[in-house]
Amino acid sequence: MKIICIGRNYGDHVKELGNEVPDEPIIFMKPKSALLQPHTPFYYPEFTNELHYECELVLRVCKNGKYIQERNAGQYYNGITVGIDFTARDIQEICKQKGLPWEKAKAFDNSAAVGKFLDLTPDQKKANFTFKLLSNGTTVQQASSADMIFKFDSIIAHISNYFSLNIGDLIFTGTPAGVGECVVGDELEAFLGNQSLLKLEIK
Ligand code: ZN
Repeated sequence: MKIICIGRNYGDHVKELGNEVPDEPIIFMKPKSALLQPHTPFYYPEFTNELHYECELVLRVCKNGKYIQERNAGQYYNGITVGIDFTARDIQEICKQKGLPWEKAKAFDNSAAVGKFLDLTPDQKKANFTFKLLSNGTTVQQASSADMIFKFDSIIAHISNYFSLNIGDLIFTGTPAGVGECVVGDELEAFLGNQSLLKLEIK
């Protein structure tokens, strides 16, 4: 499996990091070794001094495909959850300044935390999904899929022009505003609607 991530997909987050609004989805990937399953501890990586959380809606791919049409994209995912795209922001800034790839900042071990997946019916896929992240009990990120610049179907169609989608792949669909630093001892909890699907402590 692979983990495909979308960058800069919410206008307010694009602004907070001083980036430009993209005219097509920004894609990066994380390897399988980046996946942090539910109920697994997350250890603060020793190579960074500025670890950030990015809470995102995550889709689970259920069908193999390539060159998927936007109108058929709904058939290619069947589950949703919330996840955290852990980012070594200090390393990413260096990579961006030097025009280097982001993998050291984004694709390290356990950098893709996912919650428990909920199965989706075709009708549910048409709805908007609200989600939020709490850090030590305080809401730090809150958004709706309606706020995304590129919606699920458009993301899937775009990705599949470059990368075959395979059953079990995960798609992180981008983070809204409110990204911030986490330190050892912090407790992060992510909700889809009112349902808590992901909870972890930074060790
Ligand atoms: Zn992200």
